[in-house]
Amino acid sequence: MAYLTLRNINKIYPNGFHAVHNFNLEIEKGEFVVFVGPSGCGKSTTLRMIAGLEEISNGEFLINGERANEKGPREREIAMVFQSYALYPQMTVYDNIAFGLTLQGVDEDIIEERVNNVARILGLTDYLDRLPRALSGGQRQRVAIGRAIIRKVGVFLMDEPLSNLDAKQRVTMRYEIAQIHKETGATTIYVTHDQTEAMTLADRIVVMKDGYVQQVGTPYELYFQPANVFVAGFIGEPPMNFLRGTVTHGCLHFGKNRIDLSKVLPEAAGMEGKPIVLGYRPEAILLGQQPDGYVVTGNVELTEMLGDYTNIYITAEEDQAILKVDSHDTPQMDIDLTYTIPYTAVYLFDGETENVIPTRHE
Ligand code: ATP
Repeated sequence: MAYLTLRNINKIYPNGFHAVHNFNLEIEKGEFVVFVGPSGCGKSTTLRMIAGLEEISNGEFLINGERANEKGPREREIAMVFQSYALYPQMTVYDNIAFGLTLQGVDEDIIEERVNNVARILGLTDYLDRLPRALSGGQRQRVAIGRAIIRKVGVFLMDEPLSNLDAKQRVTMRYEIAQIHKETGATTIYVTHDQTEAMTLADRIVVMKDGYVQQVGTPYELYFQPANVFVAGFIGEPPMNFLRGTVTHGCLHFGKNRIDLSKVLPEAAGMEGKPIVLGYRPEAILLGQQPDGYVVTGNVELTEMLGDYTNIYITAEEDQAILKVDSHDTPQMDIDLTYTIPYTAVYLFDGETENVIPTRHE
């Protein structure tokens, strides 16, 4: 039996706005699950329903197989870390971390032992006497996490915990959150709009859009087997390139290029007039004309050298694409560049439903 079960969960706010539609998910003990999606897709609403901070309009939430819809936040044995750390400014780091246990009247000796242990896990041992204002953003966020993990609850919920940090701190804290999870083994649900955070932290990712779950899977599955155009475009950086067109004599045309779909979709000949979206990842292309792929030529509009790799912005008449190549292969700007999209790297989607069409490679 799953540890947490969300069964057909819906949220309809009092103003009638339907923010979450039929959300289904089973979470195993110890899993690190990330809800990801653009702003307003219903991630926080779902997390708040799990926390007991928001009423579930319909559907069922189970903890260990037992219905928990009516349980209050405390009864659910869930701790939440918010985007704003909400530390008490007049209290030391020690007192901030200890606060929940002090309120519960836990014995001083036990509190001290647990605070020291949490401080060790979080690298805060040398800061226990400081006030929050004398800490960096990353250290404050660690204190906020410490306050949650000291409670030894079954589930940690984190709502965009890194969004107040700068880019460098985010990378460090991301690593630390992964380490904390490894050490505590706590079931964690983490909300972010950042696909990199989702990919690096998650055992499984739930991609959401407009209140609907688009796909649930491991980072590997979402990257290599996206269910639809939205997931394909959301996961991966730079995003997947898409060519939209209509099948004409088994081919897709764009600019001066013609793509013979039968190479990846034997039934393409019978799909005359069907709208198709063809996708390929920026990093999947090969430079030059290569065998077993679609050879494409476009103009180099811009190059971005980012260290070990370069992003190349290509235009083929009205179509645009980004390619990601080894920085030693950075081309000059404003030249025609020929590259190959290997057949094995091609994704096809139905132009109407936007759902993936399984491809076959010769
Ligand atoms: P963000 O990343 O911006 O926090 P999110 O994916 O977490 O976005 P939610 O905060 O869950 O999104 O909001 C989902 C939708 O529900 C949004 O369109 C939001 O405007 C709407 N919403 C949130 N709270 C309420 C409310 N109390 N009443 C009505 N609509 C609400």
